[in-house]
Parts: sequence; structure tokens; C-alpha cells
Amino acid sequence: MLVALTSKGQVISLVMPLYTPEFLHSLRKLTEFYCPVCKQKVILKLGQKKIWHFAHHYHFPCTLTQYEAESERHLKGKKELFTWFETYHQAPILEHYLPELHQRPDLYLPQKRVAIEYQCSNMPLEVIKRRIRGYHQEKLANVWILGENRLKRKGLKTKLSQMDLMMMHDQSIFRNLNQSPFVSPYKLLFFNPSSKIFTYIHHIIPLTPTQFISERKDIKMSHINPNHLFTMPLSHSPKPLANEWNKHKQRERLIPHKYTSQTEHYLRTLCYKKNRVYYQFPSFIGLPHYSYIRLETSPVHWQYWIFLRYINNAKPYARLSIKRMIKEIKYYIQKGILRERKNIFAPSLEFAIKIYLNQLCYLRVLYKIDKDFFIHPDWLNYDGSSIETLIQKDHEILHKLHTIYKHK
Ligand SMILES: [Zn+2]
Repeated sequence: MLVALTSKGQVISLVMPLYTPEFLHSLRKLTEFYCPVCKQKVILKLGQKKIWHFAHHYHFPCTLTQYEAESERHLKGKKELFTWFETYHQAPILEHYLPELHQRPDLYLPQKRVAIEYQCSNMPLEVIKRRIRGYHQEKLANVWILGENRLKRKGLKTKLSQMDLMMMHDQSIFRNLNQSPFVSPYKLLFFNPSSKIFTYIHHIIPLTPTQFISERKDIKMSHINPNHLFTMPLSHSPKPLANEWNKHKQRERLIPHKYTSQTEHYLRTLCYKKNRVYYQFPSFIGLPHYSYIRLETSPVHWQYWIFLRYINNAKPYARLSIKRMIKEIKYYIQKGILRERKNIFAPSLEFAIKIYLNQLCYLRVLYKIDKDFFIHPDWLNYDGSSIETLIQKDHEILHKLHTIYKHK
């Protein structure tokens, strides 16, 4: 931590004002230091390797244990962010203790009632959940900035953990019902204290249980002011995302997974029983949408499941009961064959399923009367199509879906 109290109760911050090394060395001889939260003695570390900081004694950790063993990156990031908010007169408070919550965000902006957490290391999901809930109870906005060490990106694909996903919340989600397949209100903000660069990962769309496609924007800290940090306009180019998506579907068709998940195993068995070839799934299986983040199962897999269960053998004009479908999906989630994501800000399961059925209506696999969905008599199942044809269809269908929404 960067803030402690002296024996006389004076606050010493290692960020502002800037104390000289001589002053701090002599202060260390004159007084003990205490943790502002648990009031235990802490040690002022003025070493060469790590940024100067206070640390609890190894055997007497803080009651707010998550503040122990802060990494160099975390200390440095916190310091940089503090200075930056300070420069723009946001009156940030470093490590401000909120006793009613028993929480101490890295930074607190009292004017706007915003708690800012700079998160570099992993934390138990329960702790994060409790913290977010606490901020909500006290009606504090909470902003999570992730350490750039957490950013695992290859091309347009980013690997995100359950913890990263919990930090991705955007109020606009519930207002933005735009259904274009590559528009997403989800974004994450990363910060690298060494290069002083913010990285936005935005338009996040789920691809597999751990992989997400998204766009990226890097911006130097000196080129942005705190007021724009979360309203920064982020440009959107869906075409590369669509290409990446199609590549993924192509791999799903051509390259068997090294490890078959329970879902895939179930689907392969079902295909075998129904005398279908697994990789020959119709191109309307595996469609993207941000709301599909609700399901941890890959879109290709759960949409395949819906197809095999409700569409494949259904008679033309047959009515689909959404109620029954949702009930059954929940049952399969219980059985572990399908998986749902918990603890994230995302639309409901019902919403996600309805979006998919609507997409199927645009592609004339289903049709809709009022709120009910029916099997379209002319839907194309592509049975017996060559792999080349199917891959071609994958591209066409995504393009079609994208253009329909563009003109709406
Ligand atoms: Zn303490």
C-alpha cells in the first residue's frame, strides 16, 4: 500500500506530496507506521527494487487481506493513475477506506462517487462479487481497470477468465438492443503503467468458453483525460471480426478438438444416433451475438443442440414452444451438458435464446407470428453438401445477417 498513518495519526502518502528520500529515511527513525484500516504496525519499504511502499508484517497480515503482497505493477499502476486523475483535478483519494463496506478501493473520486480498482492479480470470485455488491449497495460507481499482464490476445481473439468477465459491466447493455451480430456493448479497459498506455478491448463477442473475438484500441495516457475514459468513441469494423468468426467455424468443421468437451461428446453421439455427419452442420448454426455471453458453451455447440433437438426432425409449420425450450435448456445446464455463465452482467438466458430464434427467422429457418416461432417449410438443411459449399454458406449467411441489420 502507499498510504499509512504515523504514531500521531498523520497521513503519509508516498505519492502526494512528493517526499524526498532523506525525509522518509529520517521519518522512519522518528515514528512507527500503522495501517489505516486494521491499525497494525506496517513497515515502510524504501528499497531499490520495488516502488516505495508500506507492507504489513508477514505474520500479521491486514484484515483486508487482498492488500497483501501487492505486485510492483500494481503499486506502480495505482501511483500513475492517481497522478493522472490528480492532474485533471478529479481530487482522487488513494486507498480510501470505506468502513461501512470494509473495502478500500485503490482510488476513490469523492465528487463523482466512483471507486476505481486496478486489478493485476487473480482474486477469488467470491471476493470480487462481494466488492461489486458492496459498491452497488452504497450506490457507488465502480470501475475496474485491469493490469495489461491480464491481456492475453492473439490476433482478434482474447482469452478472458471468469474474473475478467465479472469486471466487464456496462449499463448500456440493457438499453442497446441492436441485434447486428458484431455489435457489442461489452468492453474491458487495461492499463500498462510502464508504457502508460490504456488498452480497450471492445465489441466483445463470445466464441468459445474462454475465447472472445473483439477489437482493440491503444491510447496513450497523455492523449486522453479522465472524463473521456469511459465515453471514448471506439470505432467498429465488423468485417475482420466476421472473418475470424468464419475461420473458427471452419476449424470446427475440419479439425477435431484435441479434448472433446461434454457438450461436444453429447452432440457427436446425438449426430451418430440420428445418422448425421457432425461437421456437416447447417451454416445457421454458430451465429454470433453479444448476448450469447450468457452461455459458457460455445455458440456453435448450443445452437447445434437446439437444431438437433427442435429443428432437424420437426415438421414444417410446427410451433416451437419457447417455454419448453428454456425449461429443457435449464435441465441440460443442470446435467452439465450445457453451461451457463453466472455472476456477469448479461441479458438473461431467455433473451439470448430469443435473439437466436429471431436470427433464424431472418434466415428463413423459422418464421414468427406474434410471439410464436414456427418451422419454416422451405428451410435448407444442406444435408450432403460438400465441406467447401458449407464453408461458402457460412460466409454468405453471416454477410446476410449483417446486411439485414445494417438496413434496419
Ligand atoms: Zn491493515
